[in-house]
Amino acid sequence: MQFGAFATRAAEIEDEPADLETVSLVRDLFLESGDDLAVVARFVQGRVFPAWDDRKLDVGPSTCYAAIARAAGPNVDSDDVEDRLADLGEVGDVAASYEFGGQRGLAAFGGGGADAMTVASVYDDLSTLAATDGEGSEGTKLDLLFGLFNRCEPNEARYLARIVLSEIRIGVGEGTVRDAIAAAYDVPTESVERALQVSNDYGLVAETARDEGTAGLDGTTLEVGRPVQAMLAQAETASDALEEWDEAAVETKFDGARVQVHWDGSTVDVFSRNLEDVTEALPEVVDFVREHCDAPAILDGEVVAVDDAGEPLPFQQVLRRFRRKHDVAKAREDVTVELRAFDCLHADGVDLLDAPLRDRHDRLASVLDANVSDRTLTDDPETVAEYEARALDAGHEGIMLKDPASTYSPGKRGRNWLKRKPDVETLDCVVVGAEWGEGRRANVFGTFRIAVRTDDGYEGIGKVATGVTDEELDDLTDLLRPHVTTESGRDVTFDPAVVFEVGYEEIQPSPTYESGYALRFPRFVGVRDDKDADDADSLDRVERLAGLQ
Ligand code: AMP
Repeated sequence: MQFGAFATRAAEIEDEPADLETVSLVRDLFLESGDDLAVVARFVQGRVFPAWDDRKLDVGPSTCYAAIARAAGPNVDSDDVEDRLADLGEVGDVAASYEFGGQRGLAAFGGGGADAMTVASVYDDLSTLAATDGEGSEGTKLDLLFGLFNRCEPNEARYLARIVLSEIRIGVGEGTVRDAIAAAYDVPTESVERALQVSNDYGLVAETARDEGTAGLDGTTLEVGRPVQAMLAQAETASDALEEWDEAAVETKFDGARVQVHWDGSTVDVFSRNLEDVTEALPEVVDFVREHCDAPAILDGEVVAVDDAGEPLPFQQVLRRFRRKHDVAKAREDVTVELRAFDCLHADGVDLLDAPLRDRHDRLASVLDANVSDRTLTDDPETVAEYEARALDAGHEGIMLKDPASTYSPGKRGRNWLKRKPDVETLDCVVVGAEWGEGRRANVFGTFRIAVRTDDGYEGIGKVATGVTDEELDDLTDLLRPHVTTESGRDVTFDPAVVFEVGYEEIQPSPTYESGYALRFPRFVGVRDDKDADDADSLDRVERLAGLQ
């Protein structure tokens, strides 16, 4: 396809305000593109390479302006280009405003001559440009770009400039391309969508739809070495999740950076959440996978920074390592990173995207013999709260709740993976009673009854049993013992004196406690030594918070 024909279509698409019409125009463009379909399917989105491909043009605006200036002739310099940019507001319009190519030759007369650019030739030149590296590469890139602009008609220059700077601005999003592929080759949108999720390559998917139809699309498989968009999580309360699912898989939420690790048995590739190749920055992850992963696999996980004892460090430490290209060895001495794997998309020749999480996690544990995320399957809110308290105590960010029956949806932020919403504001509650523990814990208090202040005294709002370490239980028992007023069986009451700061997920109206409210997922945060019972939070505040939620 002539690049001029592509540019003409791009201009029509840009001028078309209606979504449906835009899809038809993109469909027509695809049908006209012949052997260049794959490149056209990317150019139309302002991309030169597939999303998973690590190649980048790495051309900044100033190089692009300099190339435009040179092609525009001896009387134009980069400042002129920038002045026009200030006037016109957009690089494509600026590029189209010049008369290029004193040396244009045949193409100037009627196009299609020996010198006319094709989509394929533009792509080849841009690929050469992307491969230009090292000393002097800026100059070589400028020369290549100049060569391209110098052959452009104004409309071609408009879209070339925009493709080079990755902002095509013709209103074609991923959904439009998906629908246009479906319309052009008469295949179901869902099949196109799925193939896109699996391959991350609009060019490949367009060609597959054209050459192999629905069966080809549905048969698109993962490829070890080609990253997939990561499945994402949504913030939600644990109670909603437990109500909806039979049970929840509860996992630690690690405070690091997302990675997808591809291991084909001889090479390890590590990709970031944006599908960037970060392998070189993380040699420990590469070594770890070589040593501990038995079979070719695609693993999903988090890279965390750890101290000498293997305890997690804040995520800022990971960032110091993550995209580092130079002095990796030195950086590695300062901060050690480790992989925490929590999902498996492919194992030993088998794609697992459509397998339930339960099975994927089993496969993960069978191919990787270390650092697999620990998790609990439960339908019990208490177990979730305890798991969370342990995770927080261990210095992690929190917990994730996942539906064990759910499949892996690349690139989707859905309800199958939930990051538990952090607690809202905490409440300072008076401890009005407790129960002695059982067994090993018979001589310390286990569950604490907490209350809020009213005009007439204190009214119960819940019980706190989680978030307290064994050591803290000893201290709390010593602190509260002098305040015991009555004791009956395991049950004790206290005079109102000690104030706990309590975290919770939400406040609900409830007949169970005198206040008429209950805290869901109450969690001990600490003792408010600085507060007396009189300073505890009031029922008024609880009502206000309940109303606000
Ligand atoms: P957020 O970045 O707050 O949207 O939270 C989602 C992110 O948490 C994911 O993209 C992962 O990078 C990270 N994460 C940490 N631990 C897990 C886990 N066990 N399962 C899934 N994602 C996790």
